Amino acid sequence: MQMERRPVALRNDGALWFYFLGCGGAFSKRLYQTNLLVVKGPDHLLVDCGTRGPEALSAAGISTTEIAHFLPTHSHADHVGGVEELSLTARYVARHKPKMYLSEEYQAVLWERTLRGGCEFNERFDGKGLTFEDYWEPVRPTPVPGMPRGGATFNVGNLNVKTFRTRHYPQQAESWRDAMYSVGIIVDERILYTGDTQYDEGMLAELDSRYAFESIFHDVQFHPGGIHASLEQLEALPADIRVKTYLVHYGDAWEEHENEVARLGFRGLTRQQTVYSAP
Ligand SMILES: [Zn+2]
Ligand SMILES: [Zn+2]
Repeated sequence: MQMERRPVALRNDGALWFYFLGCGGAFSKRLYQTNLLVVKGPDHLLVDCGTRGPEALSAAGISTTEIAHFLPTHSHADHVGGVEELSLTARYVARHKPKMYLSEEYQAVLWERTLRGGCEFNERFDGKGLTFEDYWEPVRPTPVPGMPRGGATFNVGNLNVKTFRTRHYPQQAESWRDAMYSVGIIVDERILYTGDTQYDEGMLAELDSRYAFESIFHDVQFHPGGIHASLEQLEALPADIRVKTYLVHYGDAWEEHENEVARLGFRGLTRQQTVYSAP
C-alpha cells in the first residue's frame, strides 16, 4: 500500500483506503486508540470506536453523525467505548439509524454489557426503554464455507469484508474457540487487519495461503506477556509475511522501537492519521 499524505474523507475516487484514526494501545496518551476507517469509492466502514474514537474522528474532520456503517471487533473500551456516543448522536442529532455488522450473539453482549446503561432509558414507552434496534440496524455476516476461524462475510456497497475470530482474551485462552468474542478483518480479499490478538502461531500463514494478502496490519506490544502479540514473538513470523506487515496498537514510547521493527524485517509501524492506499 502507498502512504499518502492527504486528508481522509468518507468517499474517494475508488482506491481502497485504510486510515487508522489512531494506532495506539488502550492506554496511549500521545496516540489515539487503534480504530480504523476503510473507504472505497462511495462506501465506508468504521472498524471500532473506542473511548477516544469520537475525538479521533473529529481530529480527522469527520462527525460521528456521518458514520453509516460500523463494525465492532470486541468489547474492550478502546474499541467500543465511543459506541454510546455514536448511538446517541445518530438517534438524536442526525436522526438516522446506521448499520452495525455483528452476530446476534455478540449484539446481545454489546448491548447488555456495554451500551444498555447509557442508551436504554433516554426514552420510555409503556414503561419500556429503548433497545439496540432503536439505535442501529443490525446486519448479520454470513458464514463462509471452508473459511477457517468461524469466517463470515458481508458487503458494504462495493467493499467486501470478511471476519475471522482471534485469540485475544483471556490470556489463558488456548485457541480462538475458548476466547471471548474478538475478530480481525479481511477487506476485498487483499488486506488483513488482525484487530487485537495474542501471537497466534499459524493464524496468518493459514489465512495468507488462502488469500495471498498484499498487506497485513498486525497487533503488537513492545513488552512480553498479556493479551497482545509481542514484537519478540512476532519475530517468528515467516520473512515473506513480515515484509508485508505493518504493526499497530502500540505504546507511547514507539520511537525507541522503530529501528528494531525495521531490523526484524517488518514493513514498519503503522502511522495514525495517514491514508494507506491500494489502487
Ligand atoms: Zn485494543
Ligand atoms: Zn482488546
